[in-house]
Amino acid sequence: MKHATRTLAATTATLLAAAIAGCAGTGTRDAPPPAPLALDTHVDIPLDYMREPRFDVGGDTPLLVDLGKMERGGLAGAFFVVYVGQGPLTPEGYADAVAQADRKFSAIALMLEKYPDRIRAARTPQDVRDNHARGLLSAMIGIENSYSLGHDLGRIDSSFAKGARYLGLVHVGNNDLCSSANPDVKQGQPAHNSAADAGMSDFGRAAVARANALGMMVDVSHASDKCVRDAIAASKSPVIASHSSARALVDVPRNLPDDLLRAIAADGGVVQAVAYKEFLKSDPARAAAEKALQQEVARQAGDAEYDSDKHDYLPAMTEGMARIEREHPLASLEQYMDHIRHMVDVAGIDHVGIASDFDGGGGITGWMDASQTPNVTAALRARGFSEADIAKIWGGNLLRVWQAAIDEAARERGAAP
Ligand SMILES: [Zn+2]
Repeated sequence: MKHATRTLAATTATLLAAAIAGCAGTGTRDAPPPAPLALDTHVDIPLDYMREPRFDVGGDTPLLVDLGKMERGGLAGAFFVVYVGQGPLTPEGYADAVAQADRKFSAIALMLEKYPDRIRAARTPQDVRDNHARGLLSAMIGIENSYSLGHDLGRIDSSFAKGARYLGLVHVGNNDLCSSANPDVKQGQPAHNSAADAGMSDFGRAAVARANALGMMVDVSHASDKCVRDAIAASKSPVIASHSSARALVDVPRNLPDDLLRAIAADGGVVQAVAYKEFLKSDPARAAAEKALQQEVARQAGDAEYDSDKHDYLPAMTEGMARIEREHPLASLEQYMDHIRHMVDVAGIDHVGIASDFDGGGGITGWMDASQTPNVTAALRARGFSEADIAKIWGGNLLRVWQAAIDEAARERGAAP
């Protein structure tokens, strides 16, 4: 009782102080609201992440996401992505993909070992909140292209043990789980949305079941429309699209059509609108200029083909990209907001989030790296989203879906969630 009285007195004093401050016109009413807990669900890392000094994220790096940029931009956490490109479905191809994925998992572990006072692993939504409360960044891990499972379901368990919390089924070109939104038509794979598009395989369904059992989210970005529908049907917990925008605004297969935005929402899932130039603004001239530059830089380096890991940070590439940016500017924050607005209108405020695809081709005028994250929040406010809506878009929705995956796994084990 005494305690309650004291609390009440303290509250009254606080309110009084606030009222006086307000009357005195100190501008407290105009102070910006606290920044939301901001999570980015798709940040790529180069193959030599943390191993090459220039990719040591404790210092200033050419990367669009490093610890300093996250801290300065108030980006509370990111899913660092273990990506592998699609190769042949052969024992050699699988072995190579597994090795690349392991190199990236261990690079993320190196970051966590080296900078425990700045960034910590988050293996649950509660970890994210706890890290944030302590002033620490959160590192999550997402798999992009389950080709790196090497056709072995046991790799889902070992990836989960290393911290992977979403399983991206496929990338460019069909694999053993799923057909891609960008099938390799030159290699004879059926066109996207053609009658022969196979959707999800039995192995794909087994992988989804294993991810469900572990409490790992299933990620449908890069999957064909048919595979997205198959994944929603196969998964016991809601699915995510870790980095996809709206096809109704820019008609590319990597964006999601309205019916699939609605289907993911009806299932309880979330679509993370991606700040990737070509998905926000159709600009064939820029795409052609970038392709020509990539080929030229590869040729100068004595390579037959462009390789992002090898060529992206060469001076010729950096200078060429600056020229292209002057001639063909990137998509704007306004265009990004158009996608978010449309997705919220179609799917609902509880089913849209944010992803940059930084260091994997993402970045737009106004959100060129993680340090510019407050610009996105300001743009959301300018579009009339409330603080509660912004908190959902910036991470609340994603954390809800992640928790649902954990709860479903607990139910399967027969334990109370
Ligand atoms: Zn991607």
